[in-house]
Amino acid sequence: MVAYKSKVVERIQLPSRERRERALEQAGYNVFDLAAEDVFIDLLTDSGTGAMSDEQWAALLRGDEAYAGSRSFDELESAVGEVMGFSNVVPTHQGRGAENVLYGTLLEDGDVALNNTHFDTTRAHVANQGADPVDCPVARAHDLTVDGPFKGNFSLDRARSVVDDVGSERVPLVILTVTNNSAAGQPVSVENTRRVREFADEIDATFVIDACRFAENAAFVARREAEFADAEIGEIAREQLGYADALVMSGKKDGLVNAGGFVATDDEALFEKCKQRAILYEGFPTYGGMAGRDVAAMAVGLREAVEEAYVTDRIDQVRAFAAMLEDVGVPIYTPPGGHAVYLDAGATLPHLSPDEFPGQALVCALYREGGVRGVELGSFAFPGTDRPELVRLAVPRRTYHDEHLEHVAETAAAVLETRESIDGLEIASEPAVPELRHFTASLEPISS
Ligand SMILES: *Cc1c(COP(=O)(O)O)cnc(C)c1O
Repeated sequence: MVAYKSKVVERIQLPSRERRERALEQAGYNVFDLAAEDVFIDLLTDSGTGAMSDEQWAALLRGDEAYAGSRSFDELESAVGEVMGFSNVVPTHQGRGAENVLYGTLLEDGDVALNNTHFDTTRAHVANQGADPVDCPVARAHDLTVDGPFKGNFSLDRARSVVDDVGSERVPLVILTVTNNSAAGQPVSVENTRRVREFADEIDATFVIDACRFAENAAFVARREAEFADAEIGEIAREQLGYADALVMSGKKDGLVNAGGFVATDDEALFEKCKQRAILYEGFPTYGGMAGRDVAAMAVGLREAVEEAYVTDRIDQVRAFAAMLEDVGVPIYTPPGGHAVYLDAGATLPHLSPDEFPGQALVCALYREGGVRGVELGSFAFPGTDRPELVRLAVPRRTYHDEHLEHVAETAAAVLETRESIDGLEIASEPAVPELRHFTASLEPISS
């Protein structure tokens, strides 16, 4: 059921096919280098790309820009308290700022951090402390076609075997990412969260929840975990998050803002340490890395994120989008997660081997055919791993309507028709850091 109507609109247009061809060539077949103006439907990310509500725009005007003791900070503190159940908050410029503040406080050289799956920036921040990020997804997380209610769960078996190998003293931190962004946005059950809490207690580790998509996760729990069939989204969110010692949050996801983030904790000693580090890297702890007005808008956004009508519309839109793509025969990761649909590029372009980057070839074909921008998450983004060849089509919050998504499905259908003629790609130039090559490398078609 639709939960809102438009009040402000932004013009978009599909550039001509010639212009798309030229733009793609000029961008070195890397869609990160396209001008947004040349993109018709932009599904590059759901991070900070959503629409704010009228209440959030109103809150912007009321924002308090005081350096210390801002009223907007008080509003954020009460929103985090009521929606997420934590009493102390340190605002940061975005999620990775929160990761720097918290993980810089909790980790030292030689430590090991366990996570259902480390998101890219999480992995980088753990590594930046000299610690080793180890993923513990469940076995079916990277199986594209097996059904399952909570494929995002944390595998306690894997975690225990890591602890048996390295010793519990080396594992001071256990992280649970909800939803599991790097495993196709799959949800995590509350029951699994309880087990992770017990495990962290057993090994005397701090338990952090990466809460970026906590509201979407709660909506899946309401539908799929029998114990919560009658519970409200807000109750589920507080129950699940309440098992953690601390949260890291990117406001650009379920904070429903374009920029912002925070750390939250009830642990006073940890809070003090985070505040000190935040002053160094972010700003005074009542504004952190954010303008007061943005803090005010995020406080409103957090409350809207757990409204039943909003979050139901959100995950139903992604599910409907997945169904449109399946209807035209596009192979996708199933079941769809909360924020994106993942196309199986390996199955779509079986004539291309991993070193011909089938995912990136599909990304380019979608842009060339219909001005649609997605992102490759396969051999190009993750060199040297045996990940499946995926293309993510992320859905910005409250931004696109069915007609937009139907255009994407029609574009994908047209690409399927001519798939044998789609060439692979090779790298023409790449940056020094291989982990970041997909942002800036340029490619060229392998002429057959
Ligand atoms: C986006 C994201 C982050 C980082 O947040 P930014 O606001 O982009 O810095 C961390 N963890 C997860 C799971 C995310 O999705």
